Amino acid sequence: MASGSTSLMWFRKGLRLHDNPSLEYAAKGSKFVYPVFVIDPHYMEPDPTAFCPGSSKAGLNRIQFLLESLVDLDLSLKKLGSRLLVLKGEPGDVLIRCLKEWSIGKLCFEYDTEPYHQALDEKVKSYASVSGVEIFSPNGGSPPASYQSFLKLAGQPSWASTPLSTTISSLPPIGNTGSFAVSGVPTVRELGYEDLREDERTPFKGGESEALKRLRESIANKEWVANFEKPKGDPSAFLKPATTVLSPYLKFGCLSSRYFYQCIQDIQKRVKKHTSPPVSLLGQLLWSDFFYTVAFGTPNFDQMKGNRICKQIPWKNDDELLVAWRDSRTGFPWIDAIMVQLRKWGWMHHLARHSVACFLTRGDLFLHWEKGRDVFDRLLIDSDWAINNGNWLWLSCSSFFYQYNRIYSPISFGKKYDPAGNYIRHFLPILKDMPKEYIYEPWTAPISVQRKARCIIGVDYPKPVVSHDSASKECRMRLGEAYALNKTLNGLVSEEDLNELR
Ligand code: FAD
Repeated sequence: MASGSTSLMWFRKGLRLHDNPSLEYAAKGSKFVYPVFVIDPHYMEPDPTAFCPGSSKAGLNRIQFLLESLVDLDLSLKKLGSRLLVLKGEPGDVLIRCLKEWSIGKLCFEYDTEPYHQALDEKVKSYASVSGVEIFSPNGGSPPASYQSFLKLAGQPSWASTPLSTTISSLPPIGNTGSFAVSGVPTVRELGYEDLREDERTPFKGGESEALKRLRESIANKEWVANFEKPKGDPSAFLKPATTVLSPYLKFGCLSSRYFYQCIQDIQKRVKKHTSPPVSLLGQLLWSDFFYTVAFGTPNFDQMKGNRICKQIPWKNDDELLVAWRDSRTGFPWIDAIMVQLRKWGWMHHLARHSVACFLTRGDLFLHWEKGRDVFDRLLIDSDWAINNGNWLWLSCSSFFYQYNRIYSPISFGKKYDPAGNYIRHFLPILKDMPKEYIYEPWTAPISVQRKARCIIGVDYPKPVVSHDSASKECRMRLGEAYALNKTLNGLVSEEDLNELR
């Protein structure tokens, strides 16, 4: 029998105390609150056959980041007289058992638009509704269908000035946990993984405390916030990244995007002049909500087939090229260095992501954006279903952006920001002694120079997998043909049509 005074707070991606309406509601009038996180094998279980080394769904850096976030949350809950109960198993089954065994009266959790979570939530909600358990899972209504209507919605005063949920100062105790195998936060080893090597570990530590510290540091310089203009940042800056690196904290909800939004707004009110969306810092946050809303309103958003906003393009299949891209062996140092940063840090600057995504798809290799998306999905610490898919659709000119003639050069684009190639030297130390004239095109260095730099191209570092000039020309041609077909058939391109273009 559900008891109205016992609540379960189901933590998923809102791993914080600040601005957490679900936690606030769980605590209100309750005698007991059970704060629960469920380790989901779907994301966490090691899978030796996975295409990317690491795990089945999430790379080890992201798992580590999540565990750090849980440790931080547990510490914060302890300060309020509670603690985090970590359970393991298929979350729907685990939750239903919790609801039954602990006689939960109120189930509170953050709304999630991702299809995997929608299905999971339906299962839990249907059990809860027949058992008389109250559900609290706030969401913002139906999604707008276009960027313009999204901007109109975002411009409404109610959006900007919604009061933040208050930070909770104490929590009711946890009730009896009965027969449950409740544990503390596990380590990566306890989850069945080897520890990451020191030089493979992301420099970004998970957790709400880190998120708030990083936010304070990022916005301390009001001029910087006011003048933020996205395409002007330097993608090769790694000692001090050109953007906030708040994405992994937003992804896990260690930072409330609403709180971040209001902090930027407060600064904008206090300065004379500031940049505006889409290029401003506020504009960046709007992009993420834009992708959430479009993804939520678009069936099959994460695939080409059956996705009404996605151009049907006859991408090539070539696993050898795909693996070369994934494993930093394309022979283009700018591309390979970015992919090393992805593997080691799980984060790269937005324009660096542009470079490698364009190279894989419409720029050079003409491989399917879904394959690149999968690699990013495992290795990014900020990997987010809607944002990752949305940006891959964009970068491959499959949706949102259609100027397929504008291709990033894997040679001159990086050089513009970092002519000495310091970024490449850092992430690809095999090229650290290559003179700067050749660092972006080491295959053009005379053999005497290669010997002196202790890096023979074709032996110590690969030759380019394609010639950029001819590959990009061919990509433009293929995209042109595919676009013409999409236009004629109004987007309804069949598998046979695609095969003909292949
Ligand atoms: P800042 O410039 O400081 O921006 C602040 C916040 O705004 C970010 O943390 C992020 O939440 C949001 N934001 C910024 N740019 C974008 C954008 N283009 N789209 C949506 N939201 C944005 N971002 C993710 O968070 N998760 C992903 O899985 C992801 N995959 C991507 C895949 C590709 C192919 C590309 C090109 C971009 C992807 N991005 C993704 C978007 C963007 O690159 C990152 O959000 C950004 O680089 C994160 O760094 P930051 O926090 O310093 O950003």
